[in-house]
Amino acid sequence: MSNEPQETLDKENPREPAVDVSTETQDYPGFTEEMEPRPDHGEDSYKGNDRLMGKKALITGGDSGIGRAVALAFAREGADVAISYLREEEEDGQNCLDLILAEGRTALGVPGDVRDEDYAKSAVSETIDELGGLDILVNNAGYHLGQPNGIGDITPDQLRRTFETNVYGTFWMIQAALPHLKPGSVIINTTSIQGHHPSTSLMDYAATKAALNNLTFSLAELLGEKGIRVNAVAPGPIWTPLQPATTTPKKLASFGDSTPLGRAGQPAEVAGAFVFLASNDARYVSGEIIGVTGGMHLA
Ligand code: NAD
Ligand code: MG
Repeated sequence: MSNEPQETLDKENPREPAVDVSTETQDYPGFTEEMEPRPDHGEDSYKGNDRLMGKKALITGGDSGIGRAVALAFAREGADVAISYLREEEEDGQNCLDLILAEGRTALGVPGDVRDEDYAKSAVSETIDELGGLDILVNNAGYHLGQPNGIGDITPDQLRRTFETNVYGTFWMIQAALPHLKPGSVIINTTSIQGHHPSTSLMDYAATKAALNNLTFSLAELLGEKGIRVNAVAPGPIWTPLQPATTTPKKLASFGDSTPLGRAGQPAEVAGAFVFLASNDARYVSGEIIGVTGGMHLA
């Protein structure tokens, strides 16, 4: 392994160490074990402080990448965690469940497809049955496929998959969870720098993330009177399986280089924002988007 996780987050200088990513691509959806270097989910660095003790969380796309880092951090903060992922990701799913179990927390895998509204209902009800409730919903499952020539190359299937995963999936999950949420419950959506500064190679994806930012605002407004907070985290370029599974070798070669901090980020570097938003430290924060972008501004 060329990038030892312990070294990554102990560095004082946030420009270090560079995440020197391989330009080798993978078939979608991509697998953690095949990545070079292996992403850092905080296995050796994240220290919990009981900030989510006893909470019950459901994280979509929790098998790998940002979702896995959030699942691990939530477990180390004392939460029981259910993760949703695609059926073909069982290996990554099990590896993440093992990380949660190692913290002495309850771990539940609910594989399935968030594009299916019935799946959303069953994922929520299984979580409530097995974990005993639901306090935190993280809508993190996401899809994109880069098209270097822009809008003309986006096929109907790609457009449908991108919107149905990112936007419909988030709506289905929220609709399914809402009847079970109560004052103190939290919804966190994973959006993207792309929702603010769209790339011409990701036009469909960027539009879905802008839609989710907008939904975060309206939902925070709607649910404020119920004492339910709704926020989003907007990552910049983060080294996860989504990248080698959907990006060209040319893009991978310069992944993260143009950020002010000059590098890609690790999933572990995004998890803290989710913990903050999920915890009581953020009890007066709703309708907010936190950028974790290596310095790119959201304005
Ligand atoms: P990832 O591939 O590790 O995680 C995405 C997960 O989404 C997959 O593991 C898969 O389980 C899930 N998923 C996709 N389609 C699904 C479907 N139809 N049904 C159920 N699950 C589905 O990659 P990641 O980068 O950690 O992505 C997590 C989120 O972060 C996504 O919403 C992505 O758009 C967002 N994001 C990523 C980056 C980045 O640079 N990696 C930047 C900004 C935003
Ligand atoms: Mg995955």
